[in-house]
Amino acid sequence: MLLSAFAGNTDVKYELSEAMSRRSLPHAIIIEGDKGCGKKTLAGILAAYAVCSSDGERPCGRCPHCLKAEKGIHPDIFSLDGNKPGELNIDSIRNVRAAAYIKPNEAANKVYMLFNCEKMLIPAQNAFLKVLEEPPENVMFILTAASSSVLLQTVRSRSRILTLYPPLPDEAAAVLRTRLPDKSEKELLEAAETAGGNIGLAAELLKSGGEEERKLAEEIFRAVFMSAEYPLLLLTNRLSKDRTFAVRVLDCLCGLTAECVRAALGAENTSDKAKELSDRISANRLTVLQKNVQHAREVLNINVNLSFYSTWLSGVLRSTENGG
Ligand SMILES: [Zn+2]
Repeated sequence: MLLSAFAGNTDVKYELSEAMSRRSLPHAIIIEGDKGCGKKTLAGILAAYAVCSSDGERPCGRCPHCLKAEKGIHPDIFSLDGNKPGELNIDSIRNVRAAAYIKPNEAANKVYMLFNCEKMLIPAQNAFLKVLEEPPENVMFILTAASSSVLLQTVRSRSRILTLYPPLPDEAAAVLRTRLPDKSEKELLEAAETAGGNIGLAAELLKSGGEEERKLAEEIFRAVFMSAEYPLLLLTNRLSKDRTFAVRVLDCLCGLTAECVRAALGAENTSDKAKELSDRISANRLTVLQKNVQHAREVLNINVNLSFYSTWLSGVLRSTENGG
């Protein structure tokens, strides 16, 4: 993907395109931002830049290096994910450290992408710091985390930190239009709103219909603020059968809640749906709900028993209403 196709985040894109045209990107970059704001996508663009062989704009999206990067098969781009067991532990980081000083295989540069660095513990971070202190030539490190504050100050001070925000629904819809040109404007905008600017999720919803997930997320949202507890329990129970379905409903709920927080804070460009749902609910309560929903979504990354999960979820969401 080209940098220009990355949604929203105008300031970050401007800074990067300036640095890219001067061929002067820093050797360590931390990308921070909430789930769904495009951290992985941007990391992929930066990685393609580092291996691209074009004399003009990089990444060009056409040279053999860019094509391999796009397919995820470039031999000089390595990715490690903190959400996968052991991938960001001290041994893995030591291996990275040893390998980083070896010359690239095909491209002029090598790239290490370290995703979800909130899972990188202090000993592993200290091992990583040693690489940053004596940075190998022609190597770029790209780290992602919800917040860079999880990283040691010494790591942060040796890196450029980029903060991403989810794109506004109309910015997200503009990107979706290029990927799914057969969908109507209304469908694109609706999916972008439901997904709270999370383009990957919006695209998934559009491809699969996503009607059921969207509707259930909305019903759950309404039930959180009802006085009776039972409706919410019935609704969350529908997540107990299928993990993929549960993940998508929770993703929708994350997007919807984020959009409602924006509406409650009086942000422009929020949808009528978000305005209606957030009506008479304070921004504070919505922010608590947003945190609870994000936490509940993360819990789904672990292999939880779905039937316990659905009951637990109902309680967690209810605690929003009780000010918890
Ligand atoms: Zn290229």
